[in-house]
Amino acid sequence: MGAFVAATTTPPATSPPVSPPKSPSSSSSAVPIVGTRLVDGLGRVRGPLASSYVFREGGKTYLIDTGFPGAATPLRQAFRSAGVPLREVTDILLTHQHPDHMGGAAYLRWVTNAKVACHAMDAPAVEGRGPRLAPFVIRVLFPRHPVHVDHVLKDGDTVGPFTVIGTPGHTLGSVAYYHSERKILFAGDALVSSSKGLDLPSRYSNFDPDTAIDSVERLAALDVRSIFCGHGRPVLTNAGPLLHEAARRLSKMPEHKWWTLAGPEGHPETHPDLGALLPK
Ligand SMILES: [Zn+2]
Repeated sequence: MGAFVAATTTPPATSPPVSPPKSPSSSSSAVPIVGTRLVDGLGRVRGPLASSYVFREGGKTYLIDTGFPGAATPLRQAFRSAGVPLREVTDILLTHQHPDHMGGAAYLRWVTNAKVACHAMDAPAVEGRGPRLAPFVIRVLFPRHPVHVDHVLKDGDTVGPFTVIGTPGHTLGSVAYYHSERKILFAGDALVSSSKGLDLPSRYSNFDPDTAIDSVERLAALDVRSIFCGHGRPVLTNAGPLLHEAARRLSKMPEHKWWTLAGPEGHPETHPDLGALLPK
C-alpha cells in the first residue's frame, strides 16, 4: 500500500526535466546521413561491388550511382535506418554506363520519381539503344537494365551543387561530380582507391587507358579535399596530394592501349573473335 502512495506522489521540484524524444531530422542542424557517414550530408552505401553515395543538401537528395540491377536492398536498408524515405531521392547521378554503377537506376527511378543524369556519350548505352563499352565478361553476365536519361550532361554542366567533369577513358562518357565549395569529388571509376593510393581501375576495364590517364591529370588540377571512388576506400582529407601523385605516376607509364578488352560490342578491332558470343 505504501509503495502505491509513493508511486502516485508528485515528483520533487528538483527532478531534471525530461527532454522530448528527438526525431532524426531534429537531432542536429545537419541533415540525417543515409549510409555510413563520411562528411556532413554524405553517406556511403556499399553494394556487392561498387559503392553508392547519398548526398543531401539544400532540401535535395542526390544518389551518386545505383549499384547492380537488383542490388537496391542495401540502399533501401540504409534509407530505412536513417529514417529517410527512399522517395526523397531527387536526382540519380550516374558516373558512367557500367552495370555496377547504373544497373539499379531503372528500379530506383521508378520508385522515387528521381531524375536520372548521365553524360551524352554514355546515355545511349544507359538507355539501351547504343553499344555498351564494358569488359566482355561484364556484358555477358549482366544483361541490359536500361533507364531513361532525364538530363543528358556535357562537360562543365552544373547539377545541383556539382560541376560535371568529363573523365573519358574508362568509358567515353565517364564523368566525375565536383562540389567546389565543399571540395568533394565523386570520381566514379576514373580512379580506384586503396591503401596504396589512387590508381586506374583494372586495366581490362578501361576503353582507352591513355585517355583515362589524361582524365586523372585533369582531376588533379582541381582543388579537392575528399575523393570518393566507385571502388575502394573513401579519402576524407588530403586528397589533393594523392591525386597529384597518381597523375605523376600514371603519366610515366608506357603506351598501354593494348591492355583493354572494354571495346564496344562487336568492335572489329578490339576483339574480333568475341563479337559473335555477345548477347544481342
Ligand atoms: Zn566502370
